[in-house]
Amino acid sequence: MLIANRGEIACRIIATAHRLGMRAIALHTPADRGALFTRLADDVVETPSYLDAPAIVAAAKAAGAECLHPGYGFLSENADFAEYCALEGVAFVGPPPEAMRAMGLKSSAKAVMARAGVAVLPGYHGDNQTAKFLKERAYQVGYPVLIKAIAGGGGRGIRRVDAHVEFDAAFESAQREAEAAFGDPRVLIEKLILNPRHIEVQVFGDSHGNVVHLYERDCSLQRRRQKLIEESPAPGVPEDTRAAMTQAAVAAAKAVGYVGAGTVEFIVDASKGLGRDSFFFLEMNTRLQVEHPVTEALVGVDLVEWQFRVAAGEELPKMQAELIPRGAAIEARVNAEDPETGFLPSPGLLRALKLDALDVRVDSGFAEGDSISPQYDSLVAKLIAHAETREAAIAKLDAALARAVVLGPKTNIAFLRGLLAAPEFVAGTHDTGFIDANLERLGAVPQPPDARAALAGVEAIYADLAPKAAPATSDNDPWSVADSFELLGPRRVPFEAEVDGKTERFVAVARGRGVEIAFRDGRPAPASEVAPTVLVVDDGVLVLNGGRQTHVRPIDPEAAGEVGAGASDGAVKAPMHGRLAALAVTEGQQVEAGERVAMLEAMKMEHALTAPRAGRVTLAGKTVGDIIEQGALILTVGE
Ligand code: ADP
Ligand code: ADP
Ligand code: MG
Repeated sequence: MLIANRGEIACRIIATAHRLGMRAIALHTPADRGALFTRLADDVVETPSYLDAPAIVAAAKAAGAECLHPGYGFLSENADFAEYCALEGVAFVGPPPEAMRAMGLKSSAKAVMARAGVAVLPGYHGDNQTAKFLKERAYQVGYPVLIKAIAGGGGRGIRRVDAHVEFDAAFESAQREAEAAFGDPRVLIEKLILNPRHIEVQVFGDSHGNVVHLYERDCSLQRRRQKLIEESPAPGVPEDTRAAMTQAAVAAAKAVGYVGAGTVEFIVDASKGLGRDSFFFLEMNTRLQVEHPVTEALVGVDLVEWQFRVAAGEELPKMQAELIPRGAAIEARVNAEDPETGFLPSPGLLRALKLDALDVRVDSGFAEGDSISPQYDSLVAKLIAHAETREAAIAKLDAALARAVVLGPKTNIAFLRGLLAAPEFVAGTHDTGFIDANLERLGAVPQPPDARAALAGVEAIYADLAPKAAPATSDNDPWSVADSFELLGPRRVPFEAEVDGKTERFVAVARGRGVEIAFRDGRPAPASEVAPTVLVVDDGVLVLNGGRQTHVRPIDPEAAGEVGAGASDGAVKAPMHGRLAALAVTEGQQVEAGERVAMLEAMKMEHALTAPRAGRVTLAGKTVGDIIEQGALILTVGE
């Protein structure tokens, strides 16, 4: 078996393949050389890209693979690729190409569903792709509407339009992202639901005509249409609505002769009270879903095993009556991104990664010492908790997140914990807009430095770094002086350290045989529920406290003044390694502070870069499509 994918899903597929006694061949790009999944595989083959179909199929044949698992993303929903595999004698672990064609594009899928009697949202999903025509349709549907890439996935290629005048810009940007991400610029128009819940149904078919469902997953906790937390059962859904949705999903799969694992996604209009008439078909994902472990936990099956068995022509291992959901399951996606800076990707070396013994299932594509590449998405790990009740599952997941250690890249762990604790989520009254509407309350805004972490950091620096830099002797170490006179009171040594780039003033106070460190202004150190994790790195220490990372660095008095904050020099630099997706300004153009000047694409997402001050633009010679190093100058805004 060859896996045409990478990261956590490749690792997860290898685990099942090995359990079933199959030989697993990993395919990897140059950027993924030596990645965890290549280490777990029995054999590896290098390929220029996970999208290079001819190279991938040639590699599968050369390695003697009988079948190919496409994972999710990449070529997993590409019907031409599935057909090509079959033609070359490699079994594609996925649905038949015809079913993928019928369901793979959001547009044709809607047509199929409407014919099968399932409700779809008002909109346009036809062939006419001219701006003028689509704009008219949007107007007829009534704003707000969504423009969506018909080949889209992972929340990309979607734009909300609230007014007619905004249509053209949104259309252009949706098309651009769709072309870059999916190689297909075509879009559809869809009415926007204002109070939406995202509820999807896992279905499975075999080549003997059996189709079952494995219940639903609620994926309403999303940021910018990307799922962050998924659970099952969906909270608050009446039994008759659940039955109607699962039946509609099975009908959908049957309508296209579906074989293999698939997910039928619905948008539920929560303002209609989650009744039987409140859900609409969104799309069908003709592959394994990122959040499939939620279903595996709930129903107690291995969906990848089912995929292999069905691809080999077997019947479904279990029929509907034997598929019984137990308790509640919930998954959180730990991403390498910084919620405090607009979720900027945070790739790099995983200096510490401790995700074992957390009492939950962990699916990750990394081990400590691996690097997260800026070239692929930012998923570090998925944590999946299963318990008797929803409350218990949430508590279990939260406890695991509290104990998870990821140091190096910043992560969204603290943010995820905030989500689990949000009253709306606990009550199950949230909708898909909840996160984006509550960023501030959820802590996804710049935060003051973490005082507890700062103190833990300087304590570690004192304990670890200082003695190394200056070996303790009775002459230079104020702490080891064993004098018995304390007439002058405790010794106090003032010092400074840099906390996340800002200078902080501390004082070290000798107390008996030990040292106590405090803020010089007397600020108290808040307590934390779990002791912070401290890791010594080459330039100071990294402290993890409540899922948030703080960097503390001793200040070298000689070098003081080197890191001046000061006013902006007008430079717009790449905040991370990426591809210049768009330049919104031209040489000499006058811009306002905060105006969008460029778009950078990194970790599969577009990030807007804004003018740091008002002034005139001087370009730095970069052109759209260029790969830009982190910190490289893109343009300058002059006075
Ligand atoms: P959906 O398409 O319904 O969002 P998934 O969550 O299973 O379904 O994601 C599907 C695809 O989207 C995968 O290829 C995954 O790599 C990609 N994806 C998911 N989340 C992100 C993200 N935050 N950034 C970029 N790509 C993502
Ligand atoms: P993708 O293929 O990227 O997963 P979807 O069509 O599944 O695209 O939409 C992604 C997400 O966007 C949904 O989970 C939902 O949160 C939101 N969304 C999609 N369509 C609508 C709609 N018509 N109204 C409101 N929200 C929507
Ligand atoms: Mg979707």
